[in-house]
Amino acid sequence: MDRQQEFVLRTIEERDIRFVRLWFTDVLGTLKSVAVAPAELEGAFAEGIGFDGSAIEGFARVYEADMLVKPDPSTFQVLPWRGENPGTARMFCDIQLPDQTPSFADPRNVLKRALAKASDLGYTFYTHPEIEFFLFERGSAPGQPPVPVDQAGYFDHVPHGTAHDFRRQAIGLLESMGISVEFSHHEGAPGQNEIDLRYADALTTADNIMTFRAVIKEVALEQGIFASFMPKPFAEHPGSGMHTHLSLFAGDGNAFHEAGAPYQLSKVGRQFIAGLLRHAAEITAVTNQWVNSYKRLMGGGEAPSYVCWGHNNRSALVRVPMYKPAKGQSTRVEMRSVDSACNPYLAFAVLLTAGLKGIEEGYELPDEAEDDVWSLSESERKALGIRQLPTSLSEAIHAMEESELVAETLGEHVFDFFLRNKRAEWQDYRSQISQFELARYLPML
Ligand code: GLU
Ligand code: MG
Ligand code: MG
Repeated sequence: MDRQQEFVLRTIEERDIRFVRLWFTDVLGTLKSVAVAPAELEGAFAEGIGFDGSAIEGFARVYEADMLVKPDPSTFQVLPWRGENPGTARMFCDIQLPDQTPSFADPRNVLKRALAKASDLGYTFYTHPEIEFFLFERGSAPGQPPVPVDQAGYFDHVPHGTAHDFRRQAIGLLESMGISVEFSHHEGAPGQNEIDLRYADALTTADNIMTFRAVIKEVALEQGIFASFMPKPFAEHPGSGMHTHLSLFAGDGNAFHEAGAPYQLSKVGRQFIAGLLRHAAEITAVTNQWVNSYKRLMGGGEAPSYVCWGHNNRSALVRVPMYKPAKGQSTRVEMRSVDSACNPYLAFAVLLTAGLKGIEEGYELPDEAEDDVWSLSESERKALGIRQLPTSLSEAIHAMEESELVAETLGEHVFDFFLRNKRAEWQDYRSQISQFELARYLPML
C-alpha cells in the first residue's frame, strides 16, 4: 500500500468515517456513487470493486458488463454536508476492465489519455472554469417555466437575498473540501449566479466541477430551493455558460506567455487558439451536448455563435483576457462556448487535443475579430472568413461524425456511444409538437 492509501485509511479511523462513497462519471457527465464500508477499502485499492457496468449510461454492453472501480486516494475528501461522527467521505475512481486495464468507456480515462499526449509534448494543461447556474423556487410543475429566486441582475448585491446566503454556504463547503473559489457573483439573468474555481490541472478541475455540481444541488435542497445547470431555461434571458480559461505550462513556465508579444501571447498560444478555431465545429457536440445547449448559442446573452477570436470582444468564441502583470505569467485563453451541463472530462479532452493539433501542425492564427460579430451582415462575416458554430445538436452531431480528431480523442467506444445517444436525443426532440407550433400554426393554417 502506498503512502496516500495509508493516509486515507488512517484518516478514516481518526475521523470516524463509516461510509466511503466511490464516485465516477458516466459518458453524459452524470455523477455515479457507490458507498462502501471502510473495511472494503484495502481490497478496493489493491484490486478494485466489481460492479455491473451495463447499468451505467455508456459503460458496457450487457455481455461484457463486469467492471471495476478503483479509488484514487489523492481525491479523498470528507463530505462536509453529511456531518461528523460518524462521517462520510468520497474518492473519485478510475474504471477498469476485469483484467485491470483502464476502461475505454471511462471519461476520466479519456481525459488522462489526452493529458498524457500533452505530457509527451512537454506540456501540463491547466483550466479555470467560470460556472454559471440558476436558482429556482421549488415546486414548479414539470414542463412549466421555472420561477427564479430573485429578479436581480449582473453583480447585483441583494441584501438578505437567497442567492447571497446560498453562495456563502456553497463556497464554505467547497473550500472545506479543498476547492478554492476565486470569484462569485450574481449573473445577468434573474436567479442566475456564477462561481469561478481557481485554476488547477485539468484532471483536478474536472473532478472539482463534478463535486461542485453535487455541492450546489445539496445546498439548494437544504435551503428549500432548486439549482439547475440547464444551459438556457429562459428564452428572454442569458443562459448558463461555463467559460473555461485554458493554459499550457512547460515546466514552471507558461507556454502561452511571451513578454512583449501582442497580448503577451506566444507562438504556442497563437497556434493553440488556431487549433480551437479550426476544430470548433466538430468538438461542439461534446462541449454543448444537449438540444437545449443550442438555444444558448443562438446569439446574444454574451454566448458565442461564431468561430472567431478577440481580445476585448465578448461575442468571440475565444477571448484572450487582459494581461495582468501583477498575476505573473497569467496569459491564457478563454473558451466561451462550453456550457455548465457538459461532461467536463470529455470537454477538456477535446479542447486540449484541438489546441495541441494547432501546435503540432503549426496552424496559422487568423486575424482577430475587432467588431461585435453579431452586428456584421452575413456577407461581411463571409468576407472575413468567420463561420458559424453549429446551430443545433443535429448540425453538431454531423460535424462530429466526420471528425478524426474527436474519434481519436474519445476512443471508438465513447465516440460511438456518444453519437448514438445524441442522435436518439435529437430524434426525440424532432418528434415533439411544440407550444410554438401550436400557437403559430393552428390559427393560421
Ligand atoms: N451567461 C453568458 C453565457 O452564456 C456569459 C456571461 C459572461 O460573460 O459571464 O455565456
Ligand atoms: Mg459569467
Ligand atoms: Mg468569461
